[in-house]
Amino acid sequence: MGSDNKEMLRSLPAVDELLRQEAISEAVETYPRTLVVRAVRNVLDQNRQAILNGKAAFDSQEFEQANLVKEILAEIQHLASFTLRRVINGTGIIVHTNLGRSLLCQDALDRLQLIGSGYSNLEYDLEVGRRGSRYVHAEAILCEITGAEGALVVNNNAAAVVLVLNTLAQGKEVVVSRGQLVEIGGSFRIPDIMSRSGARLREVGCTNRTHLSDYEGAIGPETALLLDVHASNYQIVGFTAEVGLEELVELGRKHEVPVMQDLGSGCLVDVTPFGLQGEPLVQDTVRSGADVITFSGDKLLGGTQAGIILGRREFIAELRRNPLTRALRVDKLTLAALEATLRLYRDEDAAIQAIPTLKMIATDQKTLIDRAQVLVKALRANIPESIEVTIMDGSSMVGGGALPTQTLPTKLVAISSKEASAARLEAHFRGYVPPIIGRVEQELFLLDVRTLQPGDEEVIIAAAAKLESVI
Ligand SMILES: *Cc1c(COP(=O)(O)O)cnc(C)c1O
Repeated sequence: MGSDNKEMLRSLPAVDELLRQEAISEAVETYPRTLVVRAVRNVLDQNRQAILNGKAAFDSQEFEQANLVKEILAEIQHLASFTLRRVINGTGIIVHTNLGRSLLCQDALDRLQLIGSGYSNLEYDLEVGRRGSRYVHAEAILCEITGAEGALVVNNNAAAVVLVLNTLAQGKEVVVSRGQLVEIGGSFRIPDIMSRSGARLREVGCTNRTHLSDYEGAIGPETALLLDVHASNYQIVGFTAEVGLEELVELGRKHEVPVMQDLGSGCLVDVTPFGLQGEPLVQDTVRSGADVITFSGDKLLGGTQAGIILGRREFIAELRRNPLTRALRVDKLTLAALEATLRLYRDEDAAIQAIPTLKMIATDQKTLIDRAQVLVKALRANIPESIEVTIMDGSSMVGGGALPTQTLPTKLVAISSKEASAARLEAHFRGYVPPIIGRVEQELFLLDVRTLQPGDEEVIIAAAAKLESVI
């Protein structure tokens, strides 16, 4: 280490000295002292490291102090802000896994407030006055709206699949088509999940074609389950053949082997009127006779994160007895929000209006055009002159791995400037509080009005008014 470095290290002020600086002692009135001290320490550490790595350059003692104070104030802001924050979704991906998937409906939010702020009968049977089961809460409504005999809610659909495989097929074989050995993302791969759950995978057919005879040929004394995985996040096209669920159920009955379907999304209303084809309805899947069905609570269903298992009464009872169920159990907040969301499905039209995920799917072209026009007009009135704003046609996606090849026509607000790249515009909006997340395509920063929520427009306009700083 050179003597310059030693000199610089020695010139770094002590923690106490910095705490006495006016701007920092003022911060202690607003923020907890421990947080301020931590910020001072962090900044001193960073500067010490920079000096040791030969990356620091101080001109004078004075410059150094002022700079450190500025860095400390920024660090205080950083430490004081939440890590999980609300963002504005302008991507047009409705069930955006990275942005928190489904938004909760008002009824669910109200129940969260009520159940979260008070005691509840989570595990208390009010009729007999003693311990009850948390699993009764969402079961009645799930059976009512889907026609299933029994239901169980666990942490997420990945957990649901693991639990069913572990309960019904540990140490035995599960027959799956090679066309369905999928990866859902986030390291959820059917073959891995299968081995973790203690079941043995028995692959049949080919990637593009699997026939009923392939399944039948694989059934033997070791077979515990026939598994059908809904192709929710991919599509095999061309020379293809798959076995329908009804045929599989018939085969299962013949050989007395239960059939499970991992539905993925869990759609409870017909979305074909909105231009989306091919997403099976949970109710139809129950009717087709599958013995166990699993799906997510926060994809097309539009509720909280949860894994919903529907099935024959004796299988659900067996699942409940598995000790693993305790490890995958949901809390009262999940049950409260889920029950409130599910009750809305008693009236499909009401569900579409009240559940944000469905409402965004159902938003019509006229509404989208109006929304885009209002936003563009307000933007033009508020932004620097060198920024251009236009309306473009585009495509929204359902997301969350659902309906991967289908899009919904939408309107995009495109923002661009000759003086700043689209990447810089994107960074400006993403860095705003609250962050505004859009897409960049062909040197345009794009915001899809379909996924904007009431009040988001004002935030976007305020952020755009500050674009001065990046051009
Ligand atoms: C999304 C999905 C899962 C995982 O569900 P999570 O609720 O995210 O755990 C499993 N299987 C299929 C087919 C899916 O689409």
